[in-house]
Amino acid sequence: MFAIEARKMGYRVHTFSPDADTPTGHISDTETTAAYDDLDAVKKFAQSVDVVTFEFENVPSATVEAAANIVPVHPKGEILHTTQNRLREKIFLSTNGFPVAPFRRVKLIDDLYRAADEIGLPGVLKTAGFGYDGKGQAKITARGEADAAYARMNGQDAILESFIEFEKEVSVVCARDQAGNFCHFGVIENDHANHILDVSFAPARVSDNVASEAVDIARNIADTFDYVGTLCIEFFLTQDQRLIVNEIAPRPHNSGHLTFDACVTSQFEQQVRAVCGLPLGSTEFYRPAAMANLLGDLWEDGEPDWNAGLSDPKIKLHLYGKAEPRPGRKMGHITATAESTEAAVQAVISARQRFMPQTQPRSTGVHLT
Ligand code: AMP
Repeated sequence: MFAIEARKMGYRVHTFSPDADTPTGHISDTETTAAYDDLDAVKKFAQSVDVVTFEFENVPSATVEAAANIVPVHPKGEILHTTQNRLREKIFLSTNGFPVAPFRRVKLIDDLYRAADEIGLPGVLKTAGFGYDGKGQAKITARGEADAAYARMNGQDAILESFIEFEKEVSVVCARDQAGNFCHFGVIENDHANHILDVSFAPARVSDNVASEAVDIARNIADTFDYVGTLCIEFFLTQDQRLIVNEIAPRPHNSGHLTFDACVTSQFEQQVRAVCGLPLGSTEFYRPAAMANLLGDLWEDGEPDWNAGLSDPKIKLHLYGKAEPRPGRKMGHITATAESTEAAVQAVISARQRFMPQTQPRSTGVHLT
């Protein structure tokens, strides 16, 4: 989606990936297939472009450094280094005064018992690195579950954080340009199923106070990082209306995919503008919007029924061109804009159900009243 926006603006795109025939490669002018630790390939790649950016944060530091010695890299390598590890990210947030769930580092099983004593249970044990969509996570409700949860970390560095009984999850997708100008898409509400984002809609149903506090936190994080590009801050909103930062995504984010169809400037175009040194575009929404993810599970009984799903002309289909539909794998999404958030959510949920007419309607957990 970044490459599509870049091409629309007349840029040529060169993608670097360890995989061949990638979704970005389909849109790019040139696709380099090489391992991230093939630093000769990284250097050759960097010499062929004017600026480098990322679509995901788990690119090794040495790779980023090799590129940054040759060409500007946005966002900076040290931001990726911080955000690709939950422990470093949580330490960055808490030392800079941003609200996070109580957490402790866990290296050995004794650390886990001590952490449970200090911050209490229930808690969530998470691997420090390479975790997303609930991967490498185990909820611990009683001390007796600690050993099994620890075993699931496979000896990797981990953190124990308090389990938050949140009212809802929300995010702020925002962008900051090279002159330090900041813009945001307001607060987006997110509903997860099995730890994976399921449905997002905007504007979120939160008070004005919560909305302005969430945006202030996002702006302060972007400024503290001296960030350039699109950034997403994911929050838990507690029952007593406190915001807690769950995660920072240093890139366009799944919850901002609805901006592609709903806004004057999408989160991807903002990323293009920011990294290429252009002014940011308007983040105005044309109408309330909703997005539903399409996971590989949808292909379980064969090709989805595209005709039935798209019978509502409001529905916009985005498929990423991934070769293999595996369960839980994000294959694409649909969006709708409507006169109200409720109508947009209803439209994407109904369309997704029509894609799988033979199966039982799925509960999304989204209750709009
Ligand atoms: P993460 O990969 O850390 O973003 O976690 C994925 C999802 O798991 C989150 O969006 C939440 O729905 C849930 N989750 C993660 N951490 C916690 C927590 N400390 N308390 C409650 N739910 C959590």
